[in-house]
Amino acid sequence: MYALDKLIPRLEQHYGAPEPPPARGPFELILWENACYLLSDERRKEVFDSLRRLVGLNAASIANASEEVLLPLATRGGMRPETRVFRWREIARITLGQFDGNLDAVLSRPLSQGRRALKLFPNIGDPGADKILLFCGIASTLPLESNGLRVLARIGYGRQQKDYGKTYRSVQADLSPDLPASPVVLQKSFLLLRAHGQTLCKETAPRCHECPVAKHCDYASKRAASFLAPVR
Ligand code: SF4
Repeated sequence: MYALDKLIPRLEQHYGAPEPPPARGPFELILWENACYLLSDERRKEVFDSLRRLVGLNAASIANASEEVLLPLATRGGMRPETRVFRWREIARITLGQFDGNLDAVLSRPLSQGRRALKLFPNIGDPGADKILLFCGIASTLPLESNGLRVLARIGYGRQQKDYGKTYRSVQADLSPDLPASPVVLQKSFLLLRAHGQTLCKETAPRCHECPVAKHCDYASKRAASFLAPVR
C-alpha cells in the first residue's frame, strides 16, 4: 500500500496541480454542489458562471429571480431542471430565513454545529459538509466522494464492501493516522484522488497498466497475481 503522503505527490506529478472549484465561501460552495446533476465539471462551471452573471451568487438575488431566468440555466445543468430550481430557491430561503442572508457565519461556529448547519441544505450530507468546510479552509478530515473512496480502497486503505457506508467508514478509520493537518494539502488530496478515480482508476476496467502508482497498489498486485496463478 502507498501511504497518503507518498501517493498524493505522485498523483500531482502525473496530473499536475489541481484546480480548486471557482466557488468561494459556504453559500457559493452549496450552489456549486447543486449546479448540475451527472455532468462534467466544465458544464458545472458553465451553469455556475451563468448564475453568477445573470442572477448573482447571493441569497436575495436567487430568491427574487424569475422562473424565466432560472429554468433555462437549470436546464443546462441536466435532468429534472425544475427540481434544481426548487433547490436553488431552497438554498436562498434557508440562508435568508435561518442565517440572515449570511452563511459565512457558520464558519465561526464549533465544527459540529457548522457541519449540522450545512446539512440543512439540499444534497449536503456529512461528506458534503466536510468538503465545504475544507474548501473554506477548515480542515477536520479528508472528505471523499465515490471516486476518491474507490482509489483509496483499491490502494489498500480500509476494506471495500458492498455497503458504501461501511466502505467509507473503514477507509476513513484506516486513513485517520495518515491525515495531514494542512487544509491546502487536504484540498489537493481530495481533488487529485477524484481526478484519478475519474481518469484511470475507473469503477469498471481500471487502467492499471497506465497508472503511476500501480507498483504500490493492493488491487493491482492481486490482479497481477491472479493472472500469474497456474491453471490447474
Ligand atoms: S493500479 Fe489500478 S486499481 Fe490501483 S490505483 Fe492504479 S488504476 Fe487504481
